[in-house]
Amino acid sequence: MAASSPLMSTYAQQPTAFTHGDGVWLFDTEGRRYLDCLAGIAVNTLGHNHPTLVAELREQIARLIHCSNLFTVPLQHELANRLLAVSGMTNVFFCNSGLEANEAAIKIARKYGHDRGIDAPEIVVYEKAFHGRSLATLSATGNVKVQKGFEPLVTGFPRVPLNDIDALRRVVAERPNVVAIFLEAIQGEGGIQPASVEYLREARRLCDERELLLMIDEVQCGTGRTGKWFAHQWAGILPDVMPLAKGLASGVPVGAVVAHGAAAEVFKPGNHGTTFGGNPLAMRAGLVTMQVMERDDLLGNASRIGDYLMHSLNREIGSLDGVREIRGRGLMVGIELDRPCGELVQRCMDAGVVLNVTADSVIRMLPPLIFGKEHVDHLVGVLAPLVRDHLARDPIAA
Ligand SMILES: *Cc1c(COP(=O)(O)O)cnc(C)c1O
Repeated sequence: MAASSPLMSTYAQQPTAFTHGDGVWLFDTEGRRYLDCLAGIAVNTLGHNHPTLVAELREQIARLIHCSNLFTVPLQHELANRLLAVSGMTNVFFCNSGLEANEAAIKIARKYGHDRGIDAPEIVVYEKAFHGRSLATLSATGNVKVQKGFEPLVTGFPRVPLNDIDALRRVVAERPNVVAIFLEAIQGEGGIQPASVEYLREARRLCDERELLLMIDEVQCGTGRTGKWFAHQWAGILPDVMPLAKGLASGVPVGAVVAHGAAAEVFKPGNHGTTFGGNPLAMRAGLVTMQVMERDDLLGNASRIGDYLMHSLNREIGSLDGVREIRGRGLMVGIELDRPCGELVQRCMDAGVVLNVTADSVIRMLPPLIFGKEHVDHLVGVLAPLVRDHLARDPIAA
């Protein structure tokens, strides 16, 4: 099948094809039902086929899908105002994806530097970070597998380990061209690795002292997933630049860069742009997503159900020898094992549960924010025995 695929082989795709979804459930071409604990990698915030989203998007499609940023798009103002209200920030640029949001953030930081007379501005980035697949964002990413074969990389990204405040202070002190610190509040692809609250606060303090931009990639951990609108809010800080995407429009492609203060005033006419970004369809999807999240208290739900998930996992498998750590916040949870566990993905699929493994040994769960306790029970009932079995029969890799 793969040999004759008309697609470039960018993904090792599973043969399963889904025909439709309903809430937290997905259905495949064989009529089998799966519990969706991945939400298209943190995208389907409202689950599948949400009645409010479907009705409003139908109406919007029949009205206006696209009209170009050469014209005023009132829905952009509406969605921007909502994002500003919940973030405490001042301006938004809309685009179509996570990498585009990050690319815009990188451009903001560089121009912020140039505007202050720094001709070769540098942006501090992190080991194990993931920011996307464009040349600039893969260069900022901390994973050689993502970079290999695409050299020469974009330069100007000194790298530090996460949660090591001394390393951060050192790089900023030693490199006069640093203009920004760029990190995920919780690393997603890197294995659900949270930046600690203390670290985020120290990074904020350092940025204030040195007039650097604090840029927090909330593409995966943002939009309510951790139980607050944005994961950095657990630290009580405000970033200067916040790229968003994945969950913001429940599956319609969208990206956004939210900025505050000086960073919000860097771009001038002609500095940046997009053809599709901010189109009425995506804006409407973003608005409905945020409205339903507020109406149905999905932040509270992510918090409560996330706690219940964490508690259930700890009870069932937390004390097993091969389970290194169960970590995360809200409905962004990772189980790190002491060995690779990629084959668990297929075993879970065979048992009717969709989830994912990242960083080789971290089982990752990113369910829709409408997840309920009964779904947690179903998930843990399937996953726990498979983890026990995996640890019992698969040897630890050298
Ligand atoms: C997924 C992801 C991206 C890239 O988003 P795309 O929409 O795939 O370009 C960037 N940053 C983080 C933290 C992500 O999880």
